[in-house]
Amino acid sequence: MLPSVSTAETAKIIDGRELADAVKRELATRVAELAANGISVRLDVVLAAGNPAGSVYARNQASMCEEIGIDYRLHEVACDADSDCVADAVQSLNVDPAVTAIMVHLPLPDGVDTMRIQSMIDAGKDVEGVNPANIGGVIYGRRTLVPCTALATMRMIEATGINLVGAEVVCVGASTIVGRPVAVLLMEAQATVISTNVHTVDLASHVRGADVVIVAAGVPGLVTRDMVKPGAVVIDVGINRIEDENGDRRTVGDVDFESVSSIAGWLSPVPGGVGPMTVAMLLRNTVAAADHG
Ligand code: NAD
Repeated sequence: MLPSVSTAETAKIIDGRELADAVKRELATRVAELAANGISVRLDVVLAAGNPAGSVYARNQASMCEEIGIDYRLHEVACDADSDCVADAVQSLNVDPAVTAIMVHLPLPDGVDTMRIQSMIDAGKDVEGVNPANIGGVIYGRRTLVPCTALATMRMIEATGINLVGAEVVCVGASTIVGRPVAVLLMEAQATVISTNVHTVDLASHVRGADVVIVAAGVPGLVTRDMVKPGAVVIDVGINRIEDENGDRRTVGDVDFESVSSIAGWLSPVPGGVGPMTVAMLLRNTVAAADHG
């Protein structure tokens, strides 16, 4: 059966903030139930020195965790270019039975082997889904702790109600953290998936045939109206800081929102789309890591 996509003159907006708030309300209820059964949900976060963006993010995380009832602990480590120092911090959290969830803020200082650090996070506590064991779980269809942005993207698509079975989906961008896991999750959903990258010849011709387009390239305005099939679902994962014509700095995605909203059936905005949903999925994974009921 063909997927159902409706044509529209103005795209319906997939409101990531609203979806994320609904997820957070459900999580707060579950955290309270777990607490009543003596199970506490805890998120331990490692932040290496010299990461100001990470510090801001950590403050936001702390207040969001408090809202939901998650015990948030920040571990600031002054490591410089020392992999062993970060590794020691992660290892002490791995072996502590009171710690149910671990996240390591990126970027790590120059010289620290990020892959080594991600690989050593206990797979059951790896709430960002960056340990190769969890990535492997995605490939095998064992959806335990899935990378948060990939999971957020799937939730955004599901919110449109589109039937992915047999749908043609184009993923623009194939990074290990977004494009590739999303492509695999879409394959698991029985979509026909085309993965594109910076070397793809004639990107527009691929995107034009797609019922669903996921854009995660880090290129502002990459996908424009002429590339989109009428009624398609377009999920914009990009987060780019640009200076507009008035010299003001603002955040935009990888999709030209103005023009694409006049042809797509559904469109996720930036800001207010995949970003807030990604945070909600980190919290979702954090609760799942503690919840064995
Ligand atoms: P990346 O740089 O690791 O990968 C970019 C991918 O896009 C590569 O596969 C590259 O080949 C491809 N690409 C680049 N230019 C292209 C082009 N012109 N045509 C086709 N493909 C092209 O980036 P990433 O970490 O996957 O991030 C991508 C974007 O998503 C960035 O804007 C980033 O800020 C954003 N992001 C958002 C979230 C979120 O929570 N919303 C999370 C992670 C990343």
